[in-house]
Amino acid sequence: MRWPFSARVVAPSDGPAAERLQALLSSDPSRIRAAARDIAHLREATELDVLAAWVGRIDRAIAGIALGRTLLADDVHVTFAMRRLRYWQEHAGCTCGLYPHYLFFDPRREAQHGHVRIKALGEAEGGWGQMHTVICSECGSGWQASDREYHYPWWEWQRVPEFDELGPGPVPGEKGT
Ligand SMILES: [Zn+2]
Repeated sequence: MRWPFSARVVAPSDGPAAERLQALLSSDPSRIRAAARDIAHLREATELDVLAAWVGRIDRAIAGIALGRTLLADDVHVTFAMRRLRYWQEHAGCTCGLYPHYLFFDPRREAQHGHVRIKALGEAEGGWGQMHTVICSECGSGWQASDREYHYPWWEWQRVPEFDELGPGPVPGEKGT
């Protein structure tokens, strides 16, 4: 794998982190968006370490790339992926602190992957879909995630401190909320 620049941070030469980094630096909007969608859900620490070290370089690579009439940097997936990497880099708090900042965290999927435990199910406000009361598996924080739909399904997350359970980790970061 060839890198078209020299950098102080050593680029990974192999594996998923290398593939995602190469996609992010590719100037190809569809590849960048696909990588950003992956990073939005990424939890693998070594991979996040690698990608977070490149966050400034990725920003510069993406700046100015058009996506239709807007900028790729303003795309919801790209914006959140960059936020996710910065949050990781800054050790800003438990990953669950980011749930309200991306529309595509399906609580069912989060539960399937073991990131949260579903504690209760109810009807979402407004009568469309369900509201999931969940507990973060990492830090024990309580959340409510409601099914929403506007052109596509999305989920609204709200912190519910009264459902918190004692957990081993820190509380989710409040930075930027
Ligand atoms: Zn958490």
